[in-house]
Amino acid sequence: MALEIHVLDYGDIELETSFLVLGHECGRVRRVPVYGYLILGGSYPVLVDTGYRDNAIMESLGMRGLQFHENMIENQLAKHGLRLGDIRYILHTHLHIDHAGKDDLFPMNTTVVLNRRELECSVSGLMHPQYPQPDIKHLIDRLHTQDALRFLDLEITGTEEIIPGVYCEAANAHTEGSMNVIVETAEGLANICGDVIYNFNDQIVNQVRQTQFMEPQVTGNHAGSKRSEKGAVKKLLNHNAFLLPIHDKPAKVEHGRIVGRLEMQVPGPITESLPRRDWFPA
Ligand SMILES: [Zn+2]
Repeated sequence: MALEIHVLDYGDIELETSFLVLGHECGRVRRVPVYGYLILGGSYPVLVDTGYRDNAIMESLGMRGLQFHENMIENQLAKHGLRLGDIRYILHTHLHIDHAGKDDLFPMNTTVVLNRRELECSVSGLMHPQYPQPDIKHLIDRLHTQDALRFLDLEITGTEEIIPGVYCEAANAHTEGSMNVIVETAEGLANICGDVIYNFNDQIVNQVRQTQFMEPQVTGNHAGSKRSEKGAVKKLLNHNAFLLPIHDKPAKVEHGRIVGRLEMQVPGPITESLPRRDWFPA
């Protein structure tokens, strides 16, 4: 059976636009979705990212959380007939406030998988307060519980397989320890690329403030160099048929270009599955 990817809608956040694209529309507020991705059809159910803890915690970054009852992770999983304890692995693209906020709801025999470099960064203070105390403390509890946490060392090992057809790779962008999750689908490779891409249109399709041909624009929130950000986006475009970021609608890619966007309401309730055929032209 082929692997399927389902979009989970964890609610929205409102933030300043220049956070999404460097220097773009400073002071203007934009509302973006926060997604998770559920991978079914494999040897176990796998979840990628868990959203943010609650609306109040987003205020620590000066952002507004818009998480409602239907966005609760239990309710999003229930749409697929699953409960928290049915998830075998949680994979984290990274550990920022809007990606690892619900891990403590899952039992300790759901194994949380992350790149070791990312946990190191989360306790370094370098990107405080994007790594909030309750989320990171919970991960330390998992670190001291048998089989509750699995570390990857992707910079050293290269790509690692989690279940057949699902792989993690170092993203080399956004945060020092970010990773992408690659899923083999019947229609090609789908890459869940975390926050390496925030906004397809402004960064890639109609690059804001960019004169060079096919040059991706960087986000306003990254820990490494501009070159590594751009290179990481180009790599994603060159090796995948589908790109699935956390804060924008999934995109279809051909020959290094965005050729379609998944038809779905954003923001709004979503139960679409990937891959599927009804793509909007970019
Ligand atoms: Zn994010």
